[in-house]
Amino acid sequence: MTDMRRALTVVLALLLALTGSGCGKEGSPPAKGPAPEELPRYRVATDFRLPSSPTWRKAKRRGYLVVGVKEDQPYLGEKDPATGRYSGFDIEIAKMMSASLGLPPRTVRFRSIASANRETALQNGQIDYYVGTYTINPLRKRLVGFAGPYYMAGQSLLVRTDSDDIHGPADLAGKTVCSAAGSTPLQRIQHDYPKAHAVAYDNYSVCVDNLLSYQVDAVTTDNVILLGYAAKAPKELKLVGKPFSKEPYGIGVPKRDNALRFALDDAIEAHERNGDWKKAYAVTLGLSGVPAPKPPAVDRYH
Ligand code: GLU
Repeated sequence: MTDMRRALTVVLALLLALTGSGCGKEGSPPAKGPAPEELPRYRVATDFRLPSSPTWRKAKRRGYLVVGVKEDQPYLGEKDPATGRYSGFDIEIAKMMSASLGLPPRTVRFRSIASANRETALQNGQIDYYVGTYTINPLRKRLVGFAGPYYMAGQSLLVRTDSDDIHGPADLAGKTVCSAAGSTPLQRIQHDYPKAHAVAYDNYSVCVDNLLSYQVDAVTTDNVILLGYAAKAPKELKLVGKPFSKEPYGIGVPKRDNALRFALDDAIEAHERNGDWKKAYAVTLGLSGVPAPKPPAVDRYH
């Protein structure tokens, strides 16, 4: 009985800690994510070698991979300010890749890199690869390589729940819409909807703060990113309309390292086949309420 009571006390304390003001930003709901022990484990390839990849050789010598990610995108790439721990679907993809390249996922060092700085980070060798809602497109392919895609997103709009006159991008005329510098959604708004007043910041979380404080009328980027913010503040924020673009997410690699690119293509396919992709989705993006879609076919371009 005492054991039972002790167990109950622990559960209660945990519940209080989770729902109390101790976590998350003031006034925001607690971050609900999986505990580390609930995350899938990925089998580390033991005999893997990729001598033709300069990136792999360097990482192997160093003993760990350096991976560029986002730190403010709920369920995708999020850094816990208290622990410094990164979590989300993109983080899981990054770990799966590390396991396939023969380096234990727990050794990965994550670096937060904003949308506008991804290409230079890869070109300067600051990171070995990048996993962070990174759309594959011809312009970027001139600067970096892309493995994948491993997920298909689409551009959408986030507004306050008290807004009723924005239902799609055509309604943005005369409105202020916020997005991230160097992103494809910002470019699309500027080119296809020139009557919208577009403003850009480094990160989408700044846009969301501006939306909540009535500085902007909408935030635009990929639906999955917006869904994460909406899930964290369901009383204040909502998505409107249908996605109006295709954003295939790839893993950015240094441009000339085709050996690494093809190895990551193989790894993506292997983790989709063995169920890791689905498991990772369920404990990350799945929490924002969207059932796992079928992943898009990998495009091993030459
Ligand atoms: N997928 C889009 C892009 O790569 C938007 C998300 C982002 O900025 O990371 O530009």
